Amino acid sequence: MSRTVTHLDSMSAPHVALLPSSGMGHLMPFLRLAAALLAKEVRVMLITAHPMVSEAENEALSSFLSAFDKVTSERLDLLRIDPEQSMATDDPFYRHIDLIRCSSHLLSPLLSSASPPLSAIMTDMSLVSAVLPVTRALAIPNYVLFTSSARMLTLFVSSHRIFNWKVMAEETDEVQIPGQEPMPIRWIPSSFLQDENDFLRNYLVENGRSMMESEGILINTFEDFEHDTLKALNDGKVISTLPQLIPIGPLPPLDHETGIGLAWLDDQLSQSVVYVSFGSRTAISRNQMRELGEGLLSSGFRFLWVVKDKKVDRDDGEELDMVVGRELMTRLRERGLVMKSWVAQNEILRHHAIGGFVTHCGWNSIVEAIWNGVPILAWPQHGDQKINSSLVLRSGIGIWEERWGWPITEPAVKAEKIAARIKEMMCNELLRSRARAMKEAARNAIAIDGSSTKGLMELIGLWKNEG
Ligand code: UDP
Ligand code: UDP
Repeated sequence: MSRTVTHLDSMSAPHVALLPSSGMGHLMPFLRLAAALLAKEVRVMLITAHPMVSEAENEALSSFLSAFDKVTSERLDLLRIDPEQSMATDDPFYRHIDLIRCSSHLLSPLLSSASPPLSAIMTDMSLVSAVLPVTRALAIPNYVLFTSSARMLTLFVSSHRIFNWKVMAEETDEVQIPGQEPMPIRWIPSSFLQDENDFLRNYLVENGRSMMESEGILINTFEDFEHDTLKALNDGKVISTLPQLIPIGPLPPLDHETGIGLAWLDDQLSQSVVYVSFGSRTAISRNQMRELGEGLLSSGFRFLWVVKDKKVDRDDGEELDMVVGRELMTRLRERGLVMKSWVAQNEILRHHAIGGFVTHCGWNSIVEAIWNGVPILAWPQHGDQKINSSLVLRSGIGIWEERWGWPITEPAVKAEKIAARIKEMMCNELLRSRARAMKEAARNAIAIDGSSTKGLMELIGLWKNEG
């Protein structure tokens, strides 16, 4: 009897396509979602756009595919287009998004030939407006995976109703999104604040609008972390036309996400080391690096600092001694570990020696810090990171010195200030206990009867019934 049931179940297993966009901040949550779906007997087709921007993406994809051989991997070979006709930006990750946009019609044969036919596609938040016409023509339900916070989502879905962000920023200090506390203009990503002719600004606004036409929005957050915002969104208080919003986070890191070993960390005392990283695509200025290096030294703590000198890893070839400075590097090596390579971040965050995380507050980094119960010193650099930092502060799992501002407009933060904030993070027992409590809430959310598990299972149930 039980055999028959298993057989029938596998026959009716939904088949879902996943389409991440550019950069590790988008690819990582998609890979983790793929694994979560596979674990629930969903068949997964993973579509990735090639050539990819960074080496990190290539490596993450190939190690994922070796670990999960049941996934069907499909390539979207990007068209070559005249740079003159593409998005006017020198950011390689945005240029890549634009190439996917221009190549999106090539998805059609991939999607329509899927066997068994697709129950749904999950499209990255930055590709919705380009992909919707394709999936609509094929009558494939299109869901969005939003890879940032629910608070950031309130901005995205309201953006088309704000007449002109730039003009508004000149007239007021804060934006009033319905159902939300006012949001200071200084938190808003600069791309939204460009004028009406700006391609990227228009593209972001268009994407926000297109999300309304999707079947649903999955988001890598959870009830206990963003309860009020999730409620306001799902109660239609932010925008009445919002499709179903399904918190499915935290998407847990995967077992194969391991690095080169952490012998140095193994020798350190519990919770004694500061981990410093600004994610996969943020280089800080060399001047700021020197202040940070001096700040780490004068904090008195041991540290693991991942240095990034260029936005794209392939361009980041210069020696650490040249980038940070030989004399400073000599002193840094006496107290800590400085690396200039890809690290397995979750492996670091879960190590007993890590006592705090100086982060730019990319959404995945915050979720991973929560997953491991590590307190945060928020140091946002651009994009959604101030909005995300505000959630760190409000939840009590970290601190944020808002006066440090955006690096593009503010002078480098001085070493003494950095040292003082690091000490504050490392010595605050309250932060530590709140981070521990949030870790527990995160793990409960994806436990068998957790709120995020329920949301995902209901969705899978829906696909099964429709299949
Ligand atoms: N990451 C990593 N090793 C690195 C740099 C980044 O594993 O050396 C991972 C990090 O754990 C996260 C992702 O890359 O999963 C970066 O995403 P996030 O949203 O934190 O920031 P972004 O890089 O998009 O600014
Ligand atoms: N964004 C996106 N995909 C990306 C990078 C950014 O959808 O690959 C979104 C994201 O929500 C971000 C916003 O666009 O917050 C603006 O990002 P950007 O890094 O351009 O911010 P800026 O540097 O303009 O402050």
